[in-house]
Amino acid sequence: MKNILLLSFMFCAFAFSSFAQTSMEYGGEYVYSTNDAAHPCITNEQYKAIEKKCAEALKLYGIPMQKKAARTHFYWPLKPVSGFKDSSYYYIGNYVDQDTTDTSFKDYNCGRTTYDGHRGTDIVMQPFPFYKMDNNQIHIVAAAAGIIIQKSDGYFDKNCASNNNTANYVILMHPDSSFSLYWHMKRNSLTSKKVGDAVAVGDFLGIVGSSGASSGPHLHFEVWKNINKSSLQDPYAGTCNKLNDSTWWVNQKAYTEPAIIAADMDTAPPILPACPNTETPNEDSCFTPGIKGVVTIFIRNETAGISAIVKILNPDGTTYLTWTHKSIKYYNCTYWYWYKTLPTTPGVYTLEVTYNGKTVDKKFTVDCGAVSGIQSATNESQIQISPNPTNGILNLSGSDLHNGNYNFTIQNVLGQIVLQDHSLIQNNNFQKIISLSNFPNGVYLLTIETGNGKIIRKIVKQD
Ligand SMILES: [Zn+2]
Repeated sequence: MKNILLLSFMFCAFAFSSFAQTSMEYGGEYVYSTNDAAHPCITNEQYKAIEKKCAEALKLYGIPMQKKAARTHFYWPLKPVSGFKDSSYYYIGNYVDQDTTDTSFKDYNCGRTTYDGHRGTDIVMQPFPFYKMDNNQIHIVAAAAGIIIQKSDGYFDKNCASNNNTANYVILMHPDSSFSLYWHMKRNSLTSKKVGDAVAVGDFLGIVGSSGASSGPHLHFEVWKNINKSSLQDPYAGTCNKLNDSTWWVNQKAYTEPAIIAADMDTAPPILPACPNTETPNEDSCFTPGIKGVVTIFIRNETAGISAIVKILNPDGTTYLTWTHKSIKYYNCTYWYWYKTLPTTPGVYTLEVTYNGKTVDKKFTVDCGAVSGIQSATNESQIQISPNPTNGILNLSGSDLHNGNYNFTIQNVLGQIVLQDHSLIQNNNFQKIISLSNFPNGVYLLTIETGNGKIIRKIVKQD
């Protein structure tokens, strides 16, 4: 996997809604280019060092080779953090190269999703790969029970270039003496377990990052049949797999998985800067009545002939708006967005997107103040929050407020509470400073709660 360049090209088309709202379609592909034989995910020198260290570890720690165990089968080596709200988070950037010549390449399915000499499965984070990394959203987990045979940590983890950087990684040995390698991890994210310690299937190993020869956050997952790199296996069974006859997966996923991986609403489109800058997802769940909203969808393995049906549903389930995105070409990963005038009636609405037989939905609220019960006579909703975006310090102020206890809660996009505070307002005026300096860049929700109800505001932290 190389260069998840977040350059987009503009693609325009017309979409028609049932309410005759006409709007342009924007967006395009998340473009990336892959490594090549000269710049593999793991270099030959690195492989030599790994082989040596594995042999040393076996001697040093006396880790027994357990030969007669049943054949290992792998579960998916990634797991989103609990509370993760999107419907998926990845696509396959590269499979194992099954072509032994130096002049060509092909994957297990006889396709071209690999590069010459690639020895693993690259699972690429999308959308917002650096945002996911900064916020520790996607965990690398043990694909099968085993023991840690090697780990490496402390190296730079936001690499964007084809070079020979050292990766943060974990290598497991399984009871049948097979090995699994987990590459490109985030610095200082690795499990505190030591070499020689046992791990169960699904145990945390680290966070997806971009350390080593990598140009964007992804997991390079590699399988060996034994301690030698020459025993390379391809976990996927298929016509062109010449390395092994059967799958190593408990449940082998399809070669491509066309799907909506995320759908978001905001008043601005997502910001997708070049590697290694952290993206700004721009997601909101509270909207001013009648405002222009932005609906963004992210499609994995977008396939010509499959269309996305996008709907905004009223609180009673009837359709407020619907339109279609037509897939006319194959892409690994795309994003598409539209500006749509949102309803004027307060209530909880649903964004619903159907693609390839699956539907994902997200709730959003028009007029959060009204919906959560704040009376218009109170001015809590007029509390000023600045600057926003902020680089860490938030100034909150307001006047003509109701006196009483005000509770402040800040949640990250996973809904986890990262900060709680409160103030007693006695003279109708209010000033407060909240620091987000210790938090990663990204989007947060600030909830201000009083006896009268609550308001929610989106806060963006960036450098
Ligand atoms: Zn790779």
